[in-house]
Amino acid sequence: MSTSSAPSSRRPAPFDSARRATFVAPRTNRSRPSRRVRRRRLAVAAVAATGVVALAAGLMGVFPSVSGSSLPSLPSVLPGTAFSPSADDGFIGDGAGVDLADDDLPAIARLDPELLAAMRAAEADAAGDGIRFQVTGGWRSAAYQQWLLDTRIAEVGEETARAYVATPEQSRHVNGDAVDIGPVDAQYWLISYGSDYGICQTYANEPWHFELATEPGRACPDMRTDATG
Ligand SMILES: [Zn+2]
Repeated sequence: MSTSSAPSSRRPAPFDSARRATFVAPRTNRSRPSRRVRRRRLAVAAVAATGVVALAAGLMGVFPSVSGSSLPSLPSVLPGTAFSPSADDGFIGDGAGVDLADDDLPAIARLDPELLAAMRAAEADAAGDGIRFQVTGGWRSAAYQQWLLDTRIAEVGEETARAYVATPEQSRHVNGDAVDIGPVDAQYWLISYGSDYGICQTYANEPWHFELATEPGRACPDMRTDATG
């Protein structure tokens, strides 16, 4: 009997949303992996990212502008509403991702200081891998969060909107405890190494949304399915 072929189970499995929860293997906190190991893992993450692009493409029918790094384009004013979010509400325009260093913006300045410090430490290390973080969502006022939810409901219907946008009472952005990051390579850097800084993806359907959710070096907790969970 031949023993020369490797078991097929060693091949990378296709990436899907259910598997993403186990994509990052639990690691000990003995030491940070070597740069070479980290680069290899990053390559694996890049392959996984390709799967997410396909996943996002599959969602396009119900969520027309999903780009993998941010939610769909928004009208600046929802017809029939007087409220329009400003920078004072933490508003960050589409395609106008800001830097974690932009302390003058409430979206950044009103983040939890521990989350901000952890994100900045991660960003500094990611820069060594040629990865840049863009903040596409930070702290938000309750009024902005409600506007976001109302706008999404008007665009894509209640069920889909609520899967992606929490109420002001539930949203971690309103407390300054969550940050949305793009582009895709930055998301996968954080999914791969964020736990070294205590940073975790917390919703399975939002690879851009991160919170402080574990002790640095410990595994991340199981993700919630979506914003309704
Ligand atoms: Zn978010």
